[in-house]
Amino acid sequence: MKSPIPDYLDEVLEDLRSDTGGATAQYIPELAAADPDRLAAAITTTSGATYTAGDVGTEFSIQSISKPFAYAAALMDRGLEKVLSSVGVEPSGEAFNELSLEGGTHRPKNPMINAGAITTHSLLVGRGAAQASRVEHVLDLFSRLAGRTLRVDEEVCASELAEADRNLAIAHMLRTYGVLEDDPHDVVEGYTRQCSILVGVRDLSMMSATLATGGVQPVTGERVMTPEVARQVMAVMAAAGMYDAAGDWLTRVGIPAKSGVAGGMVGVLPDQVGIGTLSPRLDEHGNSRRGSEIFARLSRDMGMHLFAPGQGRLDAVTAREGEHSTVLATQGTVQFTAAAELLDLMAEVVQDAVVELDVSAVHSFTDVGRRMTLEGLRRLRLEGHAVRLHDPGSVLPQPDLGDGSLPDLV
Ligand code: GLN
Repeated sequence: MKSPIPDYLDEVLEDLRSDTGGATAQYIPELAAADPDRLAAAITTTSGATYTAGDVGTEFSIQSISKPFAYAAALMDRGLEKVLSSVGVEPSGEAFNELSLEGGTHRPKNPMINAGAITTHSLLVGRGAAQASRVEHVLDLFSRLAGRTLRVDEEVCASELAEADRNLAIAHMLRTYGVLEDDPHDVVEGYTRQCSILVGVRDLSMMSATLATGGVQPVTGERVMTPEVARQVMAVMAAAGMYDAAGDWLTRVGIPAKSGVAGGMVGVLPDQVGIGTLSPRLDEHGNSRRGSEIFARLSRDMGMHLFAPGQGRLDAVTAREGEHSTVLATQGTVQFTAAAELLDLMAEVVQDAVVELDVSAVHSFTDVGRRMTLEGLRRLRLEGHAVRLHDPGSVLPQPDLGDGSLPDLV
């Protein structure tokens, strides 16, 4: 059998093919000349399967989609506190190439607009770092996120640099406010190289799937960033990824996303998927017109929305009386809700009963699910219950009850 997912993606692209509204980015000559009819989509799941449709082999410059990933690099290089002292996390409500600084601090409002992304680039590696080492650094990180070696398109870079007055003006303003500590020309050149890294939709879906897993590249298995960094990046994408259309986007589509002026887009749903699309014609906000439509379709057809409730529970908890014990069984992914229910059932266990926790049908515990479950077992033990654990798949590693002792394994 052939998976129907690529067929579905083909169908979505076919439905959109006749929409030729919008235009390629005109302010960068190399992008203005791009083939506007290119159309592609890729979805990578957190378990590493990728489904594609359309012009999957087409490479294009990453442009502003580099911003969330460079932000991740800056967070890893300099720490959250330092990065937050230079760049805020509020939606700007303005176009991506406005200065959009906060009153008082003069911090750029967020790292997804040019002012914030130029500042973020200047934070890479360390103060005064050479341009080449910053560019190498993001190239290396993006390659690890994509799972293959990427490169800079020097022609696109030269084309943009020849017309970079606006970004240079922004960088000079940032320098006068002391937000930018390094040479504005050098930083804008490095930032423009970062924007000129070539990717395809498959690279984009892999990169965002790595955010979705909380930092582990789903195919290579490499931990590329911590869950805390991935969370910060996804949250900022949700708040400010779609520039002045961020609120409309988050409510209507609900997939934290980032667009680039070459027509690419990435989107991410934590614990589910990373998405990459390409269609070079842009709308009035500078977002890919058909790319945005692909996301809207996925949201509508596939329930892919950050706030979509009613997706069904991912867990279950049951209690039954065994021959010599009260058996509490959990299933699926044990997070806060299931663990809370389990703790309520534990609270009802009759005095002196032997309690067996059966986790043989559990897929995994979240950190909080694990801690709550172990705390329940510890309290039962303290109250004098014999506590047993049935865990043939070792989904509850190191079930230490807090005093160094372990439950009896059955
Ligand atoms: N390199 C582009 C710029 O700085 C990126 C903008 C974008 O993709 N929105 O103008």
